Amino acid sequence: MLLNANVLISAFKEIIEKDPTKLFELGYKAFGVISEDYSARFSTLDKTLNFIEKVATAAGIGRIKLTLESNRVIADINPSVFAEAYINLFNTTDKPICYFSSGVLSRMVSSAIKEEIKFTEVNCVAKGDQSCKFLAEGVNS
Ligand SMILES: [Zn+2]
Repeated sequence: MLLNANVLISAFKEIIEKDPTKLFELGYKAFGVISEDYSARFSTLDKTLNFIEKVATAAGIGRIKLTLESNRVIADINPSVFAEAYINLFNTTDKPICYFSSGVLSRMVSSAIKEEIKFTEVNCVAKGDQSCKFLAEGVNS
């Protein structure tokens, strides 16, 4: 893995407590350049999402699975690098903490489907769930 998750999650924890939106924005901006124009390279949305799974996984936030289901996209991260680092350093928490990963996924998928979508984390390993699960509703498929 390229990222040192323990170093980052210590900084992230402070931001999560003060202003989690900032952490989402950081993730959103961090992968802007490499997320441009995926949709032009693939013939179908499924192939595009499959490619994004690989890119996002290579980014070091965990193993990503993306599922398109009628008008929503479900993202699943398992193992989830930041959530596991969080538990190791700070123990479990009562709320999802993967705002950075939400931002990364939102940017990558928005670029791919050419529609601005925002993932919200509903399950999080840091609060004891099996995987980190994110939903983006209202996708025009
Ligand atoms: Zn999480």
